[in-house]
Amino acid sequence: MSTLLEIFKTMEYGPAPESPSAVNAWLDEHNRKFGLFINNEWVMPKGAKYFASHNPSNEELLAETVQAGQKEVDAAVAAARGAFESWNKTPGVVRARYLYAIARNVQKHHRLLAVLESMDNGKPIRESRDIDVPLLARHFYYYAGWAQLMETELRDYQSVGVVGQIIPWNFPLLMLGWKIAPAIAMGNTVVLKPAEFTPLTALLFTEICQGILPPGVVNIITGDGRTGAALVSAEVDKIAFTGSTEVGRILRRQTAGSGKKLSLELGGKSPFVVFEDADLDGAVEGVVDAIWFNQGQVCCAGSRLIVQENVAAKFIHKLKARMEHMRVGDPLDKAIDMGAIVDQSQWETVDQWVKTGVSEGAELFQPDIKLPEKGLFYRPTLLTGLDPAAAAVQEEIFGPVLVSLTFRTPTEAVELANNTRYGLAASVWSDNINLALDAASKIKAGSVWVNCTNQFDAASGFGGYRESGFGREGGKEGLFEYLRPKWMERPRPDFTPPAEGTKTTWGEHVPARPPMPSTQRANGSDKPRVDRTPKMYIGGKQVRPDGNYTLTVLDSGGEVIGQVGDGNRKDIRDAVEAAHAAHLSKPGWAMRHGYNRSQILYFIAENLDARNAEFVERIVEMTGRTRKSAQAEVDAAVERLFTYAAWADKYGGEVQETTLRGLTVAVNEPMGVVGIACPDEYPLLGFISLMAPAIARGNTVVMIPSQKHPLSATDFYQVLDTSDVPGGVVNIVTGDREHLVKTLVQHEDVDSIWYFGSAKGSYHVEYESAANMKRTWVGYGLPRDWMSREQGEGHEFLHEATQVKNIWVPTGE
Ligand code: NAD
Repeated sequence: MSTLLEIFKTMEYGPAPESPSAVNAWLDEHNRKFGLFINNEWVMPKGAKYFASHNPSNEELLAETVQAGQKEVDAAVAAARGAFESWNKTPGVVRARYLYAIARNVQKHHRLLAVLESMDNGKPIRESRDIDVPLLARHFYYYAGWAQLMETELRDYQSVGVVGQIIPWNFPLLMLGWKIAPAIAMGNTVVLKPAEFTPLTALLFTEICQGILPPGVVNIITGDGRTGAALVSAEVDKIAFTGSTEVGRILRRQTAGSGKKLSLELGGKSPFVVFEDADLDGAVEGVVDAIWFNQGQVCCAGSRLIVQENVAAKFIHKLKARMEHMRVGDPLDKAIDMGAIVDQSQWETVDQWVKTGVSEGAELFQPDIKLPEKGLFYRPTLLTGLDPAAAAVQEEIFGPVLVSLTFRTPTEAVELANNTRYGLAASVWSDNINLALDAASKIKAGSVWVNCTNQFDAASGFGGYRESGFGREGGKEGLFEYLRPKWMERPRPDFTPPAEGTKTTWGEHVPARPPMPSTQRANGSDKPRVDRTPKMYIGGKQVRPDGNYTLTVLDSGGEVIGQVGDGNRKDIRDAVEAAHAAHLSKPGWAMRHGYNRSQILYFIAENLDARNAEFVERIVEMTGRTRKSAQAEVDAAVERLFTYAAWADKYGGEVQETTLRGLTVAVNEPMGVVGIACPDEYPLLGFISLMAPAIARGNTVVMIPSQKHPLSATDFYQVLDTSDVPGGVVNIVTGDREHLVKTLVQHEDVDSIWYFGSAKGSYHVEYESAANMKRTWVGYGLPRDWMSREQGEGHEFLHEATQVKNIWVPTGE
C-alpha cells in the first residue's frame, strides 16, 4: 500500500469505480432477456432467435435481445403507421410537452442510462455521464422547442410520415436522440433499430418513454444488418441512417426510385491541422480529445494529424509524452481516459489496420502503459512517416489510431486536409485568426472546430460533405430531414425498380442518322431561311458537339423547327471541366460576393425581358401553346430571376445558439458543380427555375435543357453572353437527356445532380449516385407546377443548392 508521501510525490490516483448494481438489478428484472418494443408493449415473438450483448470490458453477458425478422419489422411499422394519424394531428404545442417530459425523465434516469451505456459499449463513464446522456436530454429540450414553434415558423411544411431509423454502436443513446427527437417533434412516428452490439440503452430509453408517449409513436426493434435491411424495404416514408459508408451505399441503392426520403450520416477521416503558431500544449490536449475520445470509435474523430513541418518534431515529442500518461481501463472507473473497444471483431479490425500501416512503412508508437489483463482494450496508437496516399491514411480505422503527416504552407495544409473522399469534420489550430478562419472556410467538411474539437450541441447541425453522406442532424437545418413541403404528397413514382442484380439499361444512346436539311419555310420572305444550328455552350463559348451529330427538334404538330447538337460524354466532360474551372478560378464564382452574383442575376433578368417577345414566339413555336400562356411563362421566368437575385445575398447562414462560449456559425456553402436535367414542361421557366437558385448560391452548373423543347435554352446563350456571366458558370449541353445525365451522375467531379425527368430516370440517378454518394434531387416523373411560386421557387431550391458547414470558434481565455 502506498504511503501518503509516496502518493503526494507520484501524484498517482487510485480507481474510482462506479457501481453497476442498479443496472444489474434492471437487467435482472427483465431476466436478462428483452423483446421488441412495439405499441408501447414488450413483444416476445414466438420462436424468435436471440443474440447476446456482452460487456466488452470484462466479456460478461449482459442480456439477450431478439433478432427481428421481416414479420416483426412490418408489425412495428404498422404500429407506427397506426399512431401517425393522430400524432401528426396533435398540435405542435402539445407534442412539445411530450418531448419536454422525455427530456426531464432522461435527466431523472441519468445515472442508470450512463452506467448501462458504459457497460454495453465500453466507453468511459466520464464520457457517458458528462457527454452522451446530457446531450440526449439536450436534444429533447431543443426539439421540444421546435415542436412548439412548428405551426408558426415552419408553416409551409408537413410531417414526412413513418420513419425507419438505423443507428450504429458508437454512441447508442446520442444517435437515438439525434434521430428520434427531431422526427417526433415534427409529427412523424418512428421505428428505430439500434446496432446489434449495443441495443440495451435504447430499450431502457423506451421504458422511460412507455409512460409518456402514446402507443406506436416510438417503436424499437433489435437485430443485425438483416433487420436493418428489412426495415429499409418496409412501408416507411423515410430512412434515416447513421453508419458506415459501405452500408450507406447499399441503402442508397435499395431505396433508389422509391420516393422514400433518405438521409445518410456516414464515415469520416477527419483532419486535425496544427499550424506553427498554435498553442502546442493546447493542441496536444485537443488531439487526445479528437482521437482517443470513445476509443477513437467516433465518426468525426480527428484521425489524420497534419502538422506544420517546422514544429512537427516538437509536437510529436509532446504528444508521445502525453500518451505515456493515458489511463486505459475499466469503463466504470471515473478516472480513466479510454475504455474498451466495443467487440472482438472491431478490436481485430483496428489491429489489422495498425499492421497495414506498419507494412506501408509507418513508424509505430504505442505507450508503455498498463492495460487490464482481461477485456477488449487497445493502446492509444500513433503512426508516423506514412505517405498521404497510404491506405492507413485514407481509410477510416474507427479505433484509437492516429496517423500523422506534415505540411509546409497553409495551401498545402488545406490540400492535405481535403485529400480524402470524406468530409465530415475538421479541427484547425492556430493563434492567427485570419489563418485559422481561412483554412476553416476552405476545408470541405460539415463541422470545422477552430482551436477546439469534437464539439456537439443540439442547436447546430452535424453531417457530411462528399462520401460522409448527406443530410444534417441537429439545429434547424436538421428539421428538414423530417419535413416535406406542404403542397407535396409522398412521392409514389410510377416505376417498379428492377430486382437487385438484374441487368438494366438506361441512357444508352445511338446518335440519330444525319437529319434532313432544316426547314425551308419562307418566314414571310420568298428566300429560304438562313440555316442555323445552335451549338453547345461550354466555358462561355458556343462550341460544336464533339460527335458532330445533331438532333432534330419538332414542333407540337411534328414539323421540323430546328436542330441542336447531340451531346456526348466528351461534351459533358468538357462542360464539367469548365464548371470546375469557373468554381475554382480566382476569384471563383463561389468566392464572389452575393451582391455581385445578385447584380448578374438582375442583369440576366433585364436582358431576358428585353427579348421577351422573341422568347414568347419561341415557346409558342416549340410547344403549340397559346401566346398568352407563353407570355405568362416568360414573365414568370423574369420574375424568378428577380427572386434569386434577391436570395443571392440573403441565405448565407446564421449564428447558432449552441452551448459553446464563443461563436458557432452555420455557413450555407454551395454544393460545387451541379448537374441539372430540366423538365419538358415549361421549357424556359423550368430551366430558369433550376439554374437561378444554383448559381445564386455560388454553384456552377451543367444544364441539360428539355430534350423535347431545347430551343429556348439555346436562345438563352445570348442572354448569358450579354449579362456578364463569367464563362463556365453556366454550361449548356443539348441532346439525349438520359444519356447525358448518366454521364453526369457517374462523373467524380460533379457534386450534386438535380433531375426532373421520368420515374425510371429518377431511379437510375439515385442508384448510380451511390458510387460516390452524390447528393441528388429528383422529381420521380411527378408533376410540379413550375408557374406557382409555392412549387417553383423558394426554400426547397435554396436548401438543395447549399450544404451547411458549422464553424465553431471559442472565445475568451
Ligand atoms: P454499420 O454501417 O456496420 O452499421 C450501422 C447500422 O446499420 C447497424 O445498426 C447495423 O445493424 C445496420 N446495418 C448493417 N447492414 C445493414 C443493411 N444492409 N441494411 C440496413 N442496415 C444495416 O456501422 P457501424 O460499424 O455500426 O458504425 C460505425 C460507422 O458509423 C462508422 O463508419 C462511423 O463513421 C459511422 N458513424 C457515422 C456518424 C455520423 O454522424 N456521420 C456517427 C456515428 C457513426
